[in-house]
Amino acid sequence: MLSCASSSSAEHPSPAHSLPDAPPRFHLLAKPSGSTCNIDCKYCFFLSKEALYPNEKHRMSKATLETYIRQLLESHRTPEVTVAWQGGEPTLMKVEFFRQAVEFVDKHRRPGQVVKHTFQTNGILLDDEWCAFFKAHDFLVGLSVDGPRELHDTFRVDRRAQGTFDLVMNGWRHLRKHGVEFNILCTVNAANERHGRAVYRFFRDELGAKWIQFIPVIERATEQTIQLANRGWSEQAGHKRVLYTQTGNLVTDRSVGPKQYGVFLIDVFEEWLRHDVGRVFVQLFDVTLEAMFGRHLSCIHAPTCGLGPALEYNGDLYSCDHFVEPGYRLGNIHETHMLELMASPAQRKFGLDKRDSLTAQCRSCAVRPLCNGGCPKDRFALSRDGEAGQNYLCPGLELFFTQSRPAMETMAKLFRSGRPPSDVMAMTAIEDKRRGPYAPCPCGSGRKFRFCHGNDAPQRSIDTGSSEARRTS
Ligand code: SF4
Ligand code: SF4
Repeated sequence: MLSCASSSSAEHPSPAHSLPDAPPRFHLLAKPSGSTCNIDCKYCFFLSKEALYPNEKHRMSKATLETYIRQLLESHRTPEVTVAWQGGEPTLMKVEFFRQAVEFVDKHRRPGQVVKHTFQTNGILLDDEWCAFFKAHDFLVGLSVDGPRELHDTFRVDRRAQGTFDLVMNGWRHLRKHGVEFNILCTVNAANERHGRAVYRFFRDELGAKWIQFIPVIERATEQTIQLANRGWSEQAGHKRVLYTQTGNLVTDRSVGPKQYGVFLIDVFEEWLRHDVGRVFVQLFDVTLEAMFGRHLSCIHAPTCGLGPALEYNGDLYSCDHFVEPGYRLGNIHETHMLELMASPAQRKFGLDKRDSLTAQCRSCAVRPLCNGGCPKDRFALSRDGEAGQNYLCPGLELFFTQSRPAMETMAKLFRSGRPPSDVMAMTAIEDKRRGPYAPCPCGSGRKFRFCHGNDAPQRSIDTGSSEARRTS
């Protein structure tokens, strides 16, 4: 067994050579405060994961921190390593903890190893101290925002059920003030699913976002748990917290509709295609374009997965952040080196099952090379032939990948011929002109182009909180 004790990497050279089947790189999400959070988003089933470790203070110790950093750096055979912090809410650990993490990185880094830090936060506690620290150490910060005030505050609430928009904007203001690189992480849910373009424009125009990631909210439940689930996962929902697991083929009222997810993405895509290619980076669009070249940037749409484990505060390693539940606990890094856990048959099977469990509908699907059936956690619907294991989001995924494909292929062609993919915007403008303003909008909304994606005027139907965003910028 590989060494697990916390000690200098000089004494313990990289163990990778002794595990030739181990992955050369992986993207571990560390949860230093477990699933503990300082707010109570209604859709956040991660809150319920506290039930995995009852009666414990969910805080990563210095010994676990050093073991984690050392093993992560030892495990990588690529020159670049990402140290990714996530929650719960990692700012509950205070800045000092992360100063220590940076020191451990310096202590255990191999010569030539480049280490990037990422940090996902709800933004509530961000202040000058945090943001000066992020800037000094070049952290990329992910800020969770679900859109303009009215949409954000529907589900992202504090423990008194009050919206958190103002507090998040305060955090965003600090990020801007210190020049910290940030991206926006936005869930797509029942509240914002019909407002893709307004949400995207808010991030682009009001928050100055250059990187945006959309994540569908899908909260699964069974006949037995659906009522509890609809009330939310927090203790304040008035019931004893139940542990969320990936079971059941029902979804809560807060979950995004399957087809509506695709409609949302297309709504954003049509705007991006006309104005922002090469200027604003939407993760799924990048992922799709890269897939045209056979490269897979995201586990969700890669043929196989299993390279995104999650580390709990006590050193327990799980197969994936979405499978932090007893059946997917690989072991503890104080007992077994994380690379050994990553190379274990259980984890390799977890990753390969993604490909091996595709339904017949997926295997014969025209967009399968781009979609690859999506995330296994969402495969609880029936296929058109009634086969179990179809992705709940399939109607939306099929819509998005099919409708965006011609433009994606054009961008890929431009790239291959040495031209910037952003040239697609001029080509799209010519096509729009040829079609005319009163033809149906290509987004499929049924509206005339002039009143839909041909309309560049700001949308007014939603309270964007824009005056506040401007005031605080
Ligand atoms: S289960 Fe889903 S989120 Fe987890 S690694 Fe696989 S594709 Fe990624
Ligand atoms: S679009 Fe639907 S059928 Fe096609 S690969 Fe994706 S999940 Fe499978």
